[in-house]
Amino acid sequence: MDKLHVVITMDVEPPTPGTHPTATGPESWADSETFIRGYAERAREFGFPVSFFIHPEVAVEQAGLFEELKGRGCCVEGLHLHPWKFRDGRYKAHFGGLSEPDMRAALSEAVSLWQSGMGRRPLYFRPGTFSANDSMYRVLADLGFRGGSCSMPGRIWPRMNAIWTGAAPDPHRAHPVFRQLVGDLPFANMPVSVDFSGTLVTAGTRWQAVDPDADPLEANTLTGHWDMRPDWPEADYERIAANIVSQVRRRGATIPIINAITHNDNDYTDPDDRVCRNFLRAMQAMTDAAKAAGMEPVGSTVETIVDLVLAEPDRSLAFVYT
Ligand SMILES: [Zn+2]
Repeated sequence: MDKLHVVITMDVEPPTPGTHPTATGPESWADSETFIRGYAERAREFGFPVSFFIHPEVAVEQAGLFEELKGRGCCVEGLHLHPWKFRDGRYKAHFGGLSEPDMRAALSEAVSLWQSGMGRRPLYFRPGTFSANDSMYRVLADLGFRGGSCSMPGRIWPRMNAIWTGAAPDPHRAHPVFRQLVGDLPFANMPVSVDFSGTLVTAGTRWQAVDPDADPLEANTLTGHWDMRPDWPEADYERIAANIVSQVRRRGATIPIINAITHNDNDYTDPDDRVCRNFLRAMQAMTDAAKAAGMEPVGSTVETIVDLVLAEPDRSLAFVYT
């Protein structure tokens, strides 16, 4: 029976009093720990280990917690970064808005801070809001990262420097100069899984139909597809999971996965919390969608997926004349 790797991830943000009131993240360190533990525990009930992408300040403050979770099978080797969250305010930019020298500097600073908490360098990366430009993979590979979850295929959020139209949807080696394409770098990217069957737009958390007359830059809108995040006010998780699995099958993905994302800003210990309920429903939906497609759902981490990608032959596109 074919496997479907279920990869449950969390971007771990510092508390909002230290960043910005409108930013993602918990209100306190105590909430952060409760929510992280709850998330890992709920995922464990389904047999899914969590892959954490940890903002540097959190790696310093809560290293002990992550060491404990590592002991329970979670992957805690990930770095998450919004450059503007650095306390000195030096970078007034999202990750994809940085020049290549600034990207190297910001990442080096983040690695150093992360390392001061965890006692080792991070190996995997996810940029805040999937903000990225074509320097990203080259810089990450140079700085010793093996892989990450750096793309959200189909996302168009110009104000965040997050544009992923045409991006490779399945796990692949990154390209050194063209972020959407499969390349030959020793860096494996694991895209967030999206359901390509519809394209919608939002200026908040509720999707609506795309307005052909709206200027996405002016309105600060986000165009994209449904994914499995538990944060949605309402979502048909069963349909989204089934669509993702059938699209993965039809594309003939060499490493079939479903990769879900969230943040540490909801209480996953509270069964009455909407997002906690959604999380349980989403994990059941992914499990059921795999089985309905005749696949075995297997809980995997970003580390496992990166190992599989880096063991594959070169799949970059050959040059064609036109
Ligand atoms: Zn973030």
